Amino acid sequence: MNLVWFRNDYRLDDHPALYAAMQASQPITAITFFPKPINLYGLQHPSNTRAQAIYTAIESLHQRLEQIGVGLLLLQDINELPSNIDLSIVESVFYHTLPGTREAVEEQTLKALLANSSFKATESYTLLHPKDLPFIVQETPKVFTAFRKKIEKQTIVRPPLMLTNHIQQGPLYSLPSLKSLGFESSPLITPTDELSALKRLEYYCITSRHVLSYKETRNGMANWDDSSKLSMYLSIGSLSPRRIYEVLKQAEAKYGANESTYWLWFELLWRDFFYFTHVKEGDAFFSPWDIPKRLNSRDQQLFDAILNAETGYPLIDANMKELTQTGWMSNRGRQNVASFFTHYCNLPWALGSLMFESFLLDYNVSSNTGNWRYVAGVGNDPRDNRIFNVVKQGNQYDSSTEYITKWLPQLEKLPQHARYHVHQLSKVERSKIGYPDPIVGLPWQ
Ligand code: FAD
Repeated sequence: MNLVWFRNDYRLDDHPALYAAMQASQPITAITFFPKPINLYGLQHPSNTRAQAIYTAIESLHQRLEQIGVGLLLLQDINELPSNIDLSIVESVFYHTLPGTREAVEEQTLKALLANSSFKATESYTLLHPKDLPFIVQETPKVFTAFRKKIEKQTIVRPPLMLTNHIQQGPLYSLPSLKSLGFESSPLITPTDELSALKRLEYYCITSRHVLSYKETRNGMANWDDSSKLSMYLSIGSLSPRRIYEVLKQAEAKYGANESTYWLWFELLWRDFFYFTHVKEGDAFFSPWDIPKRLNSRDQQLFDAILNAETGYPLIDANMKELTQTGWMSNRGRQNVASFFTHYCNLPWALGSLMFESFLLDYNVSSNTGNWRYVAGVGNDPRDNRIFNVVKQGNQYDSSTEYITKWLPQLEKLPQHARYHVHQLSKVERSKIGYPDPIVGLPWQ
């Protein structure tokens, strides 16, 4: 028997590890390890919503695997494996590599348990296969523009793999409930399974043609179709980046390539850039990890105000409400919240990255850490402090105030032009509409 170890790759489409296992004529058992809830700085990791997103993708994978004769065994602890499977009959373990300290420990533990099996690692989390890069991963350029230019001189994207016709029936397993795994079920803003992912991709690139105006709309916060919303599927792995590339190329062939179709590729390169930088730097990617064991009372007060969406700045408060209530925040929102967190409040970037890790439906360790460091001005490419003016940014990217009034309806009591300037009103005026005082001044005042 062979094992296929699923980890952030909950799909059948373009799954090199499953594909390789299917070439060997042996029954297959699939395994995956579900996170246990842990508490860090008062936040549950992962949040119930994120856990629901992962579980929804696994539930669908479980069904689809059974249709091809493969049982999926979901465990929360690697050490439960020996009681579920006769380890001596496992010939090979097929899996995709992932960067990250926890992931490396998991891999070592599994290798120690299955010392007599051979481990066959492949790659699938990035658009570009590491072997197709025009440099070795250890020489990934420090700055994104240099990385992109090198890639664009010699771009190789492997075609997605289609499922072949295996299968010998293996043992089947039932899935434990989400509740028994320690999480409450939560409504999701969008389903996260593989078929929903493929549907969204087809809709965004082909049927709605939204991709053709992506560059103009991508900074919006109010409308779902302002950007592709593919990150959740990429994070959980219910969608392959190489499938996105293929459909993007189909859209270009059908409707013509333009600046917007190029820009989607450009953003996907950012994702790869942070991934390869993470692989290259290893633990140094997280430095300086500067969170004290206990926050001092002022920092705790600032952190609580951000978490509770009570900073007194509508752009930050609306985005934090959206994040904590749905698990989603737009890229524009993330940049402003990260800038506010690190530059206005002088809170440690690592604490901000943990806050996003808990809530984000599309949490991806490399993209999250890389972006937080980028905005905080540490690590790669620290050209300048990315201090965003949260008032100007609001007026620019939400000029109708549609976004902030959706999350902070009390602002409707103010005339539209005053809503992003609520921090300039008197305390009495603010309290009349039930809006908090600003927790910090603007850094340039
Ligand atoms: P689109 O704008 O449609 O872009 C298409 C795809 O390109 C995305 O799905 C994503 O895979 C990739 N992409 C776009 N922008 C970036 C970027 N800046 N960095 C890396 N990849 C990018 N993205 C995550 O996937 N997971 C995270 O945990 C994450 N944390 C972030 C934290 C901060 C502080 C910031 C500023 C950004 C973070 N991002 C993260 C990047 C970006 O905000 C999201 O990828 C994007 O908002 C997802 O929405 P979308 O799929 O509609 O993106």
